Amino acid sequence: MAGRPENLFGYFRDVDSLRGIGPRLAAALERLCGRRVRDLLFHAPSQVIDRSAVPKIADVLTGMRATIAVEVREHVPAANRRSPYKVIVGDDSGTMTLVFFHGRGDWLKKQLPVGEQRYVCGEVEDFQGQWQMAHPDYILRPDALEDLPRIEPVYPLTEGVSNKVIRKAVMQALSTVPALDDWQDTGARDAAGWPSFNAALAALHAPESGMDLSPLSPVRARLAYDEILADQLAIALVRNRERARKGRAVTSDGSLTARAQAALPYQLTGDQQAALDAVVADMRSDKAMLRLLQGDVGSGKTVVAFLAALHSIEAGHQAALLAPTEILAQQHFMTLRALGESVGISVALLTGRIKGKARAELLAALAAGDIDLLIGTHAIIQDAVVYHDLALAIIDEQHRFGVAQRLALARKGAAGVDVLGMTATPIPRTLTLALFGDMDVSRIAEKPPGRKPITTRVVARERLDAVVDSLRRAFAQGAQAYWVTPLIAESASTDMAAAEERFAHLQQHFGDKVGLLHGQMLARDKDAVMARFAEGALNLLVATTVIEVGVDVPAASIMIIEGAERFGLAQLHQLRGRVGRGDQDSSCLLIRGDHLSDVAKERLKVIRDSEDGFFLAEEDLRLRGAGEILGKRQSGLPSMLFADYAVHGELLARARKEARYLVEMDALNTGARGAALRTLLYLFERDTGIRLMQSG
Ligand code: ADP
Ligand code: MG
Repeated sequence: MAGRPENLFGYFRDVDSLRGIGPRLAAALERLCGRRVRDLLFHAPSQVIDRSAVPKIADVLTGMRATIAVEVREHVPAANRRSPYKVIVGDDSGTMTLVFFHGRGDWLKKQLPVGEQRYVCGEVEDFQGQWQMAHPDYILRPDALEDLPRIEPVYPLTEGVSNKVIRKAVMQALSTVPALDDWQDTGARDAAGWPSFNAALAALHAPESGMDLSPLSPVRARLAYDEILADQLAIALVRNRERARKGRAVTSDGSLTARAQAALPYQLTGDQQAALDAVVADMRSDKAMLRLLQGDVGSGKTVVAFLAALHSIEAGHQAALLAPTEILAQQHFMTLRALGESVGISVALLTGRIKGKARAELLAALAAGDIDLLIGTHAIIQDAVVYHDLALAIIDEQHRFGVAQRLALARKGAAGVDVLGMTATPIPRTLTLALFGDMDVSRIAEKPPGRKPITTRVVARERLDAVVDSLRRAFAQGAQAYWVTPLIAESASTDMAAAEERFAHLQQHFGDKVGLLHGQMLARDKDAVMARFAEGALNLLVATTVIEVGVDVPAASIMIIEGAERFGLAQLHQLRGRVGRGDQDSSCLLIRGDHLSDVAKERLKVIRDSEDGFFLAEEDLRLRGAGEILGKRQSGLPSMLFADYAVHGELLARARKEARYLVEMDALNTGARGAALRTLLYLFERDTGIRLMQSG
């Protein structure tokens, strides 16, 4: 990253520059937390071991971590490869067995010579009436007790990195990095009882009790605030930039919109009308609009966006709709072309798959102003795409795009572009601030009238056969169903494998009435499968979460979600929203695995009992924490190391206020505090913010 302040060099150096860290360990650390010194320093311990208890054997309790003074009594070598090497030890109150799997006798005899005194330290367990300690953490001579770390932080680990190794590395790292000037307002910091940044960093790695691990401890709260502040500064910089964007008053009188609205086979709901009014008022004003339309799946955002587009089209300008996937772009195109025909506007589709002559013709028509509304994927923001007079940019599933893409589209209209984002992922209020802190928000909470409720049930995996039988009966009546396969890891290819396996299994039951859809397929093949499902040639569509967003087949009335406990509430809600779009009764079956945690059980209960997306979003935040809430793979949410919006909501509100103030006062460009704040942005890698500052 260009321009990184010099005092951060030590933080961004590769871990292998630290003494005692070679390439192998560096590679393991990379998997664990990242391979820069900063990543290691930000890798927080998740537990504390307290070894201060030094009981007699007779006084230990099962599961207790203890340091015990013992005499070594007897070595019992392993009887075979699978049984452990044992060492019997004792004190004047009782005996205990030390257990070593794959223990090497010669080494153990040196460590634990028969007849000598040792301190052993580890977790004690009751094994068939005998106390035992497997693989003691420490074995010390009587004179070496001071070497024992009484209180030891325990880190999340990975293969090839032991806790001792990581502690040593962290200590090294702490001693090599320079102290940074604090970017926090020291008055406010002291009032909150928070330490300085470097003191916090050191204390992070030296917890003294479980309390210190709480996200609300002064140390962790301070670091969380730093992280949130960096994030909010970046957002405030973006907002500042977008506010400075040229706006223009779109001056149509709304007759085209009114005509289209009259031609709709339904009336707008109150929320839809209110959203449309807010959007139109923004467009009429000479400031650039930056508004987010938040509404549940099927709440009717698209039609609101379309009616808004007609405003700028009536005034002689163009509108564009950017969608995150090919499938969604297609679908919007089909819907809006039909609506557009009713009022005589020209609607076109541009995706990466439109090439050659067709593309050239389309671009020419766009530049000439012959296309009123352009719909497409990121293909519509490419450099070669020139608009005649773009005035409104609509961004569907806006959280799936970055700020850069939003700006790229907004820059396509020289005379000023209004931006309308849409998101069908209901987001809790606090997260709305974190994600879209720079936008005005309209919410559509009301559902269009006549929607039938979806019956949701939770079934255990053992009942898969019964599920298949009930599908067979439903298909005999002509029903159509989705079958969503589990999210396995943060990898699309394992998800694909799961989908393929389930597909093969269900093919045995339903033959060529089953289709398969996953993210690794070619767009062309995806569309072909979707088309066959949409026209009713397939009864069942087995899919990964690629169908989550936007897919619209009104005839489909059954949603089956396998491994439902692995999904977030918001995602389950999105998936369920694929059904219940027609006039038939719909149902959703959540197939769950065994051994669910209490939280997972509660989550399934919550989704079973509610169809209110905003309520579910708040519950999801409460139950899972913010990092998980949107599904990491597709969330626009920066992954947070210290901050957890489920507990740090108040810090967020404070940081947002401070960030806006700082940016308004241009504090980032002035004085020592400004330099410190810039350092903060670099440290937490909010480089969008930095780039915006540099370019503006
Ligand atoms: P979203 O974009 O919010 O997911 P859509 O705009 O795709 O929702 O609307 C979902 C469906 O509901 C569409 O078929 C649309 O025609 C229909 N619809 C939208 N608004 C209304 C309304 N006020 N009354 C009845 N149906 C509506
Ligand atoms: Mg939609």
